[in-house]
Amino acid sequence: MIKERIQLIAEEIFNNVVDYRRHLHTNPELSFEEVATSAFVSAKLDELEIPYVRMADNGIVGLITGTKPSDKVVALRADMDALPITEANDVPYKSKNVGVMHACGHDAHTSSLLGTATILSKLRNEFAGTVKLIFQPAEEKLPGGANLMIQEGVLENPKPQAVIGQHVMPFIDAGKVGFRAGKYMASTDEIYVKVIGKGGHGAQPQQNIDPVIITAHMLTGLQQVISRFADPKNPSVLSFGKVIANGATNVIPNEVYLEGTFRTMDEKWRADAHIRMKKLAEGLCESMGAKCEFTIMKGYPYLINEEKLTANVKGFAVDYLGKDNVLDLDIWMAGEDFAYYSQVADSCFYRLGTRNEARGITSSVHTPTFDIEESALMGSTGLMAYIALKQLGN
Ligand SMILES: [Zn+2]
Ligand SMILES: [Zn+2]
Repeated sequence: MIKERIQLIAEEIFNNVVDYRRHLHTNPELSFEEVATSAFVSAKLDELEIPYVRMADNGIVGLITGTKPSDKVVALRADMDALPITEANDVPYKSKNVGVMHACGHDAHTSSLLGTATILSKLRNEFAGTVKLIFQPAEEKLPGGANLMIQEGVLENPKPQAVIGQHVMPFIDAGKVGFRAGKYMASTDEIYVKVIGKGGHGAQPQQNIDPVIITAHMLTGLQQVISRFADPKNPSVLSFGKVIANGATNVIPNEVYLEGTFRTMDEKWRADAHIRMKKLAEGLCESMGAKCEFTIMKGYPYLINEEKLTANVKGFAVDYLGKDNVLDLDIWMAGEDFAYYSQVADSCFYRLGTRNEARGITSSVHTPTFDIEESALMGSTGLMAYIALKQLGN
């Protein structure tokens, strides 16, 4: 049985995978700077005699082909970059790069995929089909490594029929995984606004153009664009986390600066919302005598898990981990550049539980105290190998 074979190898290599993870965790690199990480991955692939090519500078794409005949291809993706955060954990594998930390678990994804590659290379003579290993740079920074790798042809020659990715989830206990079919994560756009008025004495508003009161209208007006024009069945979120009006009790400032985020799950509405928000902001400013600079920096698209593929992969997870360890998830309004694969190929992005409350491993991703329960890596390496082989029809 292939499942038992995989489980056995996953146990044998577990300590190595933890070592990989700790090495990567200790030596994190920022998006687009994953030089040593990339060299580490390629050295491991060399050891495993897995051929690979480079893409998007630090990206690596390996191919493992089973010796049994089949032209089916499945792609497995892991991201490799870290975040500009100073680690606060006191652990033996604490980040040595000050101000840089694997606070989103991409060290776990990369080491897990190296473990999966080890399992698959040991089983090469027992399966049919090709597994494409995508070690991707720069998930955390626009324009996103996924986007660049697709432009450079990562989904061609050979073309995968399915792309599978996993991401750590500190709200799910280690040993469990979670799935959601259909729309799962949001598109993410950044909004930058400058309302330019005319500052002056707070006692003489008639001589000034007050950008503060215009901004107050704008904030409520923009929320109404979302609440009145979006289909209520389609989730949309608009939040402004930065509003700077640097006047004083008796000083009206010259300008107000705002930064916000807009997230949704429909590309047509996303484009429409951009136009409507800009129009409202500019129209409002004009009507009140101010100028407006309204800029939207487009982020990642929404992420969709193809229904049939996700049902299959979830079924394989139930086979491998048991029914009680496979959860159903709700939508998640964060963004993820895996979304780019999901826009052009049948894709499935699932969550790997990494929580261990007893050991205090509960911090959210992107925080200085984030860590993972490493035993999760035993399940993750074997599960991904099992998913790949089953998806290839073995
Ligand atoms: Zn992240
Ligand atoms: Zn991440």
